[in-house]
Amino acid sequence: MKEFLEGFLDRLETKTEPNDGEYLSEDGLLYCEKCHTPVQCRKMFLGKIRTLSCVCKCKQEEMRREKEEAEAREQMIQIQRMKSTGIQERHLLDWRFDTAQETDTIRWAKKYVAEWRKVKTENLGLLLWGDVGTGKSFVAACIANALLEQMRCLQ
Ligand SMILES: [Zn+2]
Repeated sequence: MKEFLEGFLDRLETKTEPNDGEYLSEDGLLYCEKCHTPVQCRKMFLGKIRTLSCVCKCKQEEMRREKEEAEAREQMIQIQRMKSTGIQERHLLDWRFDTAQETDTIRWAKKYVAEWRKVKTENLGLLLWGDVGTGKSFVAACIANALLEQMRCLQ
């Protein structure tokens, strides 16, 4: 078992020949030319110091960025999905606060969205009343769109 592990670690151990974009530093480890942090590290394994590959700063940064971008893309897809499944009437998607006239009702609706956390925990409702054609659906759609955008309905 020990031999097997050692053989495995021997294969993992990286060479000291620098690849493109790397250089051999005074400490005997390979470094990244871009960020000047090591792409190798020494670790003690089974009583022997091994030189193994590790990720340099700029590569870590790049991986973090890629992960964030992937998460942002996933979130966008999720918002789109919620919009298409949650709101069936397509024109409602265009009913938004930024196209609304600043009336008392709209101000109330904005406040409702702004204080969504409180509204949700305290289970507060917003009653919209008025005759047909006075804009109840419009206000409701504005609120729904604003909340969807903030992804608050997921929390
Ligand atoms: Zn680097």
